Amino acid sequence: MTNIYKPATGELIREVPDTPLEEIDAVMEKARNAYKSWGALPGSVRSDFLFKLADELDARTEEIARLEAQNTGKAIRETTAEASRMPRSVRYWAGWADKIYGTTVPVSPDFHVYTLREPFGVVVGIIPWNVPYIFAIRKIVPALATGNVIVLKPALETPLSALMIEEACRAVGIPDGVVQVVTGGGELGAALVAHPTTDLICFTGFHETGKAIARSAADNLTPTIQELGGKSPQIVFDDADLEEAMEAVLVGVFSGTGQMCFAGSRLLIQDSIADRFVEELTDRVKRLRVGDPEDPDTQIGPHVTSTQRDKTLRMIEAGKNEGATVLAQSSLPTQEELAGGFFVPPTVFGDVTPDMSIFTDEVFGPVLAVTRFSTEEEAVELANKTEFGLAAGVWTSDSSRVHRLANEIHAGMIWLNTYRIVHDMVPAGGYGLSGYGYEAGQEALTQLTRNKSVWTALKPGLPAGYPRL
Ligand code: NAD
Repeated sequence: MTNIYKPATGELIREVPDTPLEEIDAVMEKARNAYKSWGALPGSVRSDFLFKLADELDARTEEIARLEAQNTGKAIRETTAEASRMPRSVRYWAGWADKIYGTTVPVSPDFHVYTLREPFGVVVGIIPWNVPYIFAIRKIVPALATGNVIVLKPALETPLSALMIEEACRAVGIPDGVVQVVTGGGELGAALVAHPTTDLICFTGFHETGKAIARSAADNLTPTIQELGGKSPQIVFDDADLEEAMEAVLVGVFSGTGQMCFAGSRLLIQDSIADRFVEELTDRVKRLRVGDPEDPDTQIGPHVTSTQRDKTLRMIEAGKNEGATVLAQSSLPTQEELAGGFFVPPTVFGDVTPDMSIFTDEVFGPVLAVTRFSTEEEAVELANKTEFGLAAGVWTSDSSRVHRLANEIHAGMIWLNTYRIVHDMVPAGGYGLSGYGYEAGQEALTQLTRNKSVWTALKPGLPAGYPRL
């Protein structure tokens, strides 16, 4: 049994039974059996189920937003926005379910050649604790739309929204075994990854876990899709719309308490405007409202776990020890009931150089590292001085420069004069330690299905020139 606590107060929300490791074989067999009928359904029927699921989730928006704020500690204004967006996302995938098919290939008049797009079968989804509802939807729904079934393992600390989606699937009549949520920690995830009947692994999480998963999956040559962390730069040039850039820099790094894979955790600012920009930025950070996530006025909640809080505090100490300057920190809440919460003050560091850990390592907390540059070349060099490659933001009014930088920056998602916008239609994925594979857009359909090619001879006998023994 795992106790699930509110990160803001330490109050117990619920006890969730752990799925015993010995049950994994039964879970996988149930999934395999469910796949036999789910995978054979016409796409239009799967589509109908998913449209019903979208309606069900729509009706539960408020409940989900509150549950997610309680379980993750994220500000309710954010979880409400997330929960409101997801039914639309489910409908996007529902729309695809009956539009997935192969092609005919006009090889020659001698053959009729066509391809089939087939589901993999049993997908294992493993997700982290930072955005559990969105990630559960992004694993479950595309898998179902493409004819796969799924066994989903949310993070030990934040299983509640995934369990709620499982319940919603049951409520709309999605057959038993098509969506199974198992609960537990890393060892449960490892058992699912290593299971011989796992057909595809879709993982979101920490890059070291991703490496361990890739190594284990190699034993069965199970394909994996990996969405990992980042150390994304926001580059602000002196010709940018500084007001908009300021908003995006603040939201880009501090929303979700910085626990966002594409947090814009490095601000690269051009020398000529650095003093002015940083002064206003620090002023804004000092005024951020950190507090009870269920209070609609709260802008920044606590970390999800005490472990993550301690990691962020260690990173802040490392920044100080390595010679960076703390330019600003927000105040922490003073209410007695929040005294046990996992709060960390949003922090801005100046004088950050590429050798410092706050420049190179993912904090996954509300910490912004500010580094100055003078030329475009220098900005690109600093942006690319990372092993990650998830995202980057560029702020400038020079329309040629934006496209030059889009080409030159080593990252899977580039936002030009905007930041942190995602859409189901647009593939999102990383370079380098940020992972490989995509779970949105048409690319996801390709990755969640296999291609089978079928050749038929149109003329009797083997073709001329066929190598005979
Ligand atoms: P984590 O890797 O520790 O855990 C993620 C999930 O993997 C959890 O469910 C965990 O129980 C499971 N797990 C742990 N060890 C495992 C193993 N050996 N085999 C199989 N499963 C295992 O990550 P976290 O700390 O929960 O999440 C934070 C990380 O997630 C950050 O690095 C963040 O950048 C990344 N992330 C990436 C994206 C993206 O889309 N690129 C999005 C959100 C978070």
